[in-house]
Amino acid sequence: VQKVVIIGGVAGGMACAARLRRLNEAASITVFEKGPDFSFSNCGLPYFIGGEFEDRNGLLIIKEPVLRSRFNLDLRSMTEITSIDRANKKVSFRKLVTGETGEMAYDQLVISTGASPIVPPLPGLPHPRILTLRNMVDMDRIVNTVHEGAKAVVVGGGFVGLEVAEALTHRKCLVEVGIPACFTLPASPHSPPRSTSPPACFPTSSPASPHLIVELCDQMIPLDPRLTHPACFTAIVEMCDQVMMPLDPEMANPLHHELRNHGVALHLKTACKGFRAVGEKLTVDLGAGLITDVDFVILAIGVRPDTAIAQAAGLQLSPRGYLVVDEHMRTSDPAVYAVGDAIQTHDVVLDAPTVLPLAGPAARQGRTAAENICGRATAFRGVQGTAILRLFGMVACCTGANCKTLARAGKPHAFVHLHPLNHVAFMPGKAPLHMKLVYDPTDGRVLGAQIVTAGQGADSRINAVAMAIQGRMTVYDLEQAELAYAPPFSGPKDPVNMAGMLAAGVLRGDQAMTSWDRISPADFVLDVRSPQEATVGPILKGHPVNIPVEQLRSRLAELPRDKPINVTCAVGVRAYLAVRILLQNGFTQVFNITGGHTSMLMDL
Ligand code: FAD
Repeated sequence: VQKVVIIGGVAGGMACAARLRRLNEAASITVFEKGPDFSFSNCGLPYFIGGEFEDRNGLLIIKEPVLRSRFNLDLRSMTEITSIDRANKKVSFRKLVTGETGEMAYDQLVISTGASPIVPPLPGLPHPRILTLRNMVDMDRIVNTVHEGAKAVVVGGGFVGLEVAEALTHRKCLVEVGIPACFTLPASPHSPPRSTSPPACFPTSSPASPHLIVELCDQMIPLDPRLTHPACFTAIVEMCDQVMMPLDPEMANPLHHELRNHGVALHLKTACKGFRAVGEKLTVDLGAGLITDVDFVILAIGVRPDTAIAQAAGLQLSPRGYLVVDEHMRTSDPAVYAVGDAIQTHDVVLDAPTVLPLAGPAARQGRTAAENICGRATAFRGVQGTAILRLFGMVACCTGANCKTLARAGKPHAFVHLHPLNHVAFMPGKAPLHMKLVYDPTDGRVLGAQIVTAGQGADSRINAVAMAIQGRMTVYDLEQAELAYAPPFSGPKDPVNMAGMLAAGVLRGDQAMTSWDRISPADFVLDVRSPQEATVGPILKGHPVNIPVEQLRSRLAELPRDKPINVTCAVGVRAYLAVRILLQNGFTQVFNITGGHTSMLMDL
């Protein structure tokens, strides 16, 4: 009988076990899990903390009795594998409740030990009220700590930190109000008198948000009273200058507004220096300031692979300590497979090693390992970082590479911004999808996409682009893609088509693009919106000349022919027409500022 031992009984390990059983009825399959639970949804933990559902057992995707009876698995919970003896093909285990030890032989071993939350060596750690979140035990600890009015600080603005911050806000946690959630930027010298009416396209989910936008560009105005009430604050401390690093900064910025608008104080570019217990409370040291009277802290600053036993067994690790595997999930020992958060995998866009601690890849890698163990030479295709986050009323998602990463890697890339509606305007529920499509300007290959929206429909679009990346498609393919349309869902030209059309148009020379970050006050900017629109919202860069697109043909004499003309409108559509009019009237240096004013607003 083929004996397979799996270490770790959650995403990767359990996917592997189930697939193994389907392929090999005779195999002996033993799963060791040092925690009490098998097959639970780590991804669901924040939502339980936030009280979005009440059935804790609902987190157990397949219940233990079913795993035993239906899949005939030998499940050993609360049992830790302490070492791997590769020469004799056996593992040593210790039962955590009784302390009893033992050994088990294997023909194939699968390591799916995952990754642990990083707990840095900061002053004040460890502390019973400085918590991390990885499993249901951690979740219970947080749920037992949280109470209405508790003051919480979340360290880390990645997926887990953001999801937990939202959950704590749902639980009406409080954080020291001493760090204000609102802030002011100096008013631009070029700012015209501003209306307080919200820019129609700005991607925030709640009615208070637009006030924040105006505040950012102009002077401080009163926030929604809910937000200044001392019972409405949670704080996030993040070392980088943005949350959710897989997004480019301008795409993450709306999330900053969304957090602040929901009463979350956001401390960007702020490294947490340590903690001090003061009686029953904690003080969080931010270097430049303190957050006092904190009831508890959640550390969510990333994960570190649990590969100590693999290292001790002499398996090859990457410089960062991840298990090195081939496309069949085999480690440096052909009898040992590894999957999930503990491994280094391959980035298909950058064609480089990477790590991606997400459940989807872990499950597919588990399945791939099982197929190979059963003699099928299935290859794992690598990853591209497709991910999605709900943050209060917003959705942010991404796939492939972003501009930051491509620039660092020295790869050629270009991008377009666009803000199409999620479906036709006459149907209720319309909302702009704020999209960024990143592509290779040398051949049009799609490299990545990011979408932020306060409406529906981002998930289907990001998944369509994800498939395009997997198929190594180009912007011309997106342009031509046949996608489902009926008025409640999309338009005859889906936003994915539009993104492709826009980028393909640039590559064909129909128009040239620039972006706000390349515009200086000395540049000539032509605003082709209506005069009424042109008085609304911030104009921070340049001194735009306003000629509505409808009047452009008759007012060409007002435009310079000796310098570049940068054309803008609300989202870039009228500017495109204006660019075409200008080019066909002999102007040679004409650029569309990608995404128009909406892109500028997003970046404020
Ligand atoms: P894990 O699921 O962590 O399982 C590893 C298991 O191995 C652990 O239970 C551990 O106890 C056990 N183990 C470790 N060492 C030993 C040992 N020596 N002996 C016995 N057992 C051992 N991903 C998404 O794609 N989408 C999401 O929305 C999402 N949300 C998340 C939210 C949270 C709060 C967290 C923590 C993670 C989230 N993830 C999400 C990530 C996803 O859960 C992980 O990528 C996935 O669980 C990794 O699977 P894995 O099998 O590698 O590791």
